Amino acid sequence: MNIILLGPPGAGKGTQAAMLVEERNMVQLSTGDMLRAARSSGTEMGKMVAGVMDRGELVTDEIVIGLIREQLETAKADGGFIFDGFPRTLAQADALGELLDSVGQSLDTVIEMRVDDEALVSRITGRYTCANCGAGYHDTAKKPAKEGVCDKCGGTEFKRRADDNEESLKTRLMAYYKDTSPLIGYYYAKGQLQTIDGLAAIDTVKASIDKALSDS
Ligand code: ADP
Ligand code: ADP
Ligand code: ZN
Repeated sequence: MNIILLGPPGAGKGTQAAMLVEERNMVQLSTGDMLRAARSSGTEMGKMVAGVMDRGELVTDEIVIGLIREQLETAKADGGFIFDGFPRTLAQADALGELLDSVGQSLDTVIEMRVDDEALVSRITGRYTCANCGAGYHDTAKKPAKEGVCDKCGGTEFKRRADDNEESLKTRLMAYYKDTSPLIGYYYAKGQLQTIDGLAAIDTVKASIDKALSDS
């Protein structure tokens, strides 16, 4: 099954994708994670996108479509792909359709995670991850069972994203409304959209996604 998790920054896409990966043998394709990996390994492309990402603007379609193309051609995903943070523009959505076609696959459903804008500030400013394994946490909503120790790997170092501040969030929200939210209508018109309440607790959101997947 190939699905898109669609929603503004902080909607909970990455959190839900990680659970789907564990339970359903799916592969998460997060263009944000791929771009951050390119930055930390210091590639030319990574250097090129750093400023754009820190400001909260969108990286060019060409770059992110190239990243996804590479993964679709090489990654093995028995349980299917979860597109997380991609597509973010209509051009990316068209390109995804063509890329899936070219590898003999298709999109099963698009899950829109709807969250009030006011909730996003605390989601984003409270977000942190394990520096060792990347597991995601939140200052209040999702703390590790033992304070300061990663549930998944036992790591004790954590990090926060440079762009997880209120200033960058404003730009990212603007980009979401201007460039990404038209995808809601796009996939609705294709009969592929399902909308869930992303404001609920993590487990409740998960149950809504499980239901959306069994309905599609
Ligand atoms: P969030 O999880 O907060 O939604 P991401 O990790 O998906 O953010 O993305 C971080 C940044 O990487 C974005 O603000 C943008 O600069 C860039 N980016 C990620 N995915 C895309 C994409 N599909 N198109 C353009 N830019 C992207
Ligand atoms: P996205 O990938 O859409 O940008 P994340 O999955 O990284 O969003 O979630 C943003 C922050 O909000 C993280 O710190 C995460 O732990 C937390 N979070 C995710 N889902 C929920 C939820 N349903 N309720 C409260 N906090 C959540
Ligand atoms: Zn960890």
